[in-house]
Amino acid sequence: MDGPAGRIAFIGLGMMGLPMATRILEAGFSVCGADLSSEARSAFAAKGGTAFDMPRRAADGASIVITMLPSGAIVRDVLLGGGDAAAALRAGALIVDMSSSAPLETRRLAEQLAALDIGLIDAPVSGGVRRAVDGTLAIMAGGDGRHIARVRPILDAMGKDIILTGPVGSGHAVKALNNYVSAAGLQAACEAVLIAEKFGVDPGVLVEVLNVSTGRNNSTEVKMKPFILSRTFASGFSMALMAKDLRTATELAEQLGLSAAGARDAAALWSTASAALGTSADHTEIYRYLAAASGSQ
Ligand code: NAD
Repeated sequence: MDGPAGRIAFIGLGMMGLPMATRILEAGFSVCGADLSSEARSAFAAKGGTAFDMPRRAADGASIVITMLPSGAIVRDVLLGGGDAAAALRAGALIVDMSSSAPLETRRLAEQLAALDIGLIDAPVSGGVRRAVDGTLAIMAGGDGRHIARVRPILDAMGKDIILTGPVGSGHAVKALNNYVSAAGLQAACEAVLIAEKFGVDPGVLVEVLNVSTGRNNSTEVKMKPFILSRTFASGFSMALMAKDLRTATELAEQLGLSAAGARDAAALWSTASAALGTSADHTEIYRYLAAASGSQ
């Protein structure tokens, strides 16, 4: 039976979408999932949910649609392109794009949906798979405050810090900029490890020093030891998605007429690394790429 929020369609049950949709389901909302992958649909079924292969079928009759897809281009295609899921929605439905999409494209999509009397807010997330499972994600919500208030109980089931960023598209802008800063911190930490190792310093000792010193960042704290020094490279966030986020940050700067050399260099580096290591590479494998490029291996 549908709850007070109506039925929720959750489209994209991947590394992040599966635990996020599961949190909403466990909070007692009525959720119907969709994913192209049969493995993803089976994983949601194992959590007690129902999922379709066609997003349009999940969206049929839903009052809220949450998208957690690889890119804004795919979100657009699912809603208004080949997927045409927006056509299955009633007037007054609300779309919550939690994917990391491109901000100006999000604004354009919101305008097109508004013409169909469908609302859109952007609510991308940070925190990775672990915090998605725990329901402690950081959520950056952009758009009409009334829309955000309407889905607030649903966001609360997935996140701990829910920050209102401004008009529609601003959440996606902040998310891309966050990932630029995150990628820069990870790159710096990896390069520091490579240099320390060559000098004869134990990389574990370097990371311990960074974590109690001014070089500390999220990557030194939660990525270097578990995923990089251990060589597991299993953070659950792909290199291709990180490279996309860096291109989004760089394109935003360009669209605003700003020169941002650091972001441009980072986007080029991560795009080249992603092309070299392939679509299955985890983003922490940037260490492997930097190691090879540095001549240390
Ligand atoms: P993922 O590749 O694991 O999941 C994406 C899912 O979307 C897949 O299951 C795929 O089958 C499905 N999909 C793709 N096209 C589809 C379509 N047309 N119709 C229905 N389903 C479709 O990706 P992810 O790691 O879960 O990331 C999802 C989004 O969240 C991305 O925008 C990413 O940048 C962002 N993000 C990821 C992380 C992370 O740690 N993995 C953290 C924060 C944000």
